[in-house]
Amino acid sequence: MTVKNKLLKALILGAPASGKGTISSRIVKKYTVAHVSSGDKLRDHIEKQTDLGKEVKKYLNEGKLVPDDVMIKFMITELKKVDDKPWLLDGFPRTVGQANALWKVQPVDVVLNLVVPFEVIIDRVRNRWVHLASGRVYNIGFNTPKVEGKDDVTGEDLVQRPDDRPEAVQKRLEIYESVTRPVIDFYKEKGILKEFHGRTSDEIWPKVTSYLDPIFTKF
Ligand code: ATP
Ligand code: MG
Repeated sequence: MTVKNKLLKALILGAPASGKGTISSRIVKKYTVAHVSSGDKLRDHIEKQTDLGKEVKKYLNEGKLVPDDVMIKFMITELKKVDDKPWLLDGFPRTVGQANALWKVQPVDVVLNLVVPFEVIIDRVRNRWVHLASGRVYNIGFNTPKVEGKDDVTGEDLVQRPDDRPEAVQKRLEIYESVTRPVIDFYKEKGILKEFHGRTSDEIWPKVTSYLDPIFTKF
């Protein structure tokens, strides 16, 4: 943190549907930092039916994690493309294996952890619609699209993610508890984890900006 003009490398962690995507897009709007979302990148490959897309489709649909070897190789390659920019990584790492692999090639400076009650998460997922091409997320009743079922910017169709079905959500939350929780401890031990509690993104956002403002001035 003492090196001047250093490129900030940040991570955002949190349970499925804890608002990582929403908070990330606000961060990207306010600060100069590239958003790198593993989930968005994988969904893009699935949409385009690439070899990787075909390989990972069933994991995403069932709410399971893509195996570490595939995920590490993919994300390290993606991050190399943006290593000349400050970035905010969302959705990776999700296992201690991934966290170790990332730390070896690129130690991170700041880790944000969003802490949202599980009952809020379950409710949110039921009303969630996404624009696949951009990753824009809508929530009926909270951030409702202007035209039902259509993206505000492009007018293209919104879809409900298959892994937002209740069974898949349950599975994702179980995986989160058993496999991803240790990732939080990994960064806690490094002394770079900061937690943000709240029921909504609007509640969490001001806490995030008061934390990030001085950090971005420093970098
Ligand atoms: P949200 O982004 O709304 O909080 P989420 O975090 O559960 O939801 P994504 O990050 O978009 O969802 O990831 C969706 C799916 O992509 C995961 O359930 C998993 O199948 C796969 N995936 C994404 N990142 C990883 C990763 N680092 N390791 C393994 N699988 C991953
Ligand atoms: Mg995501």
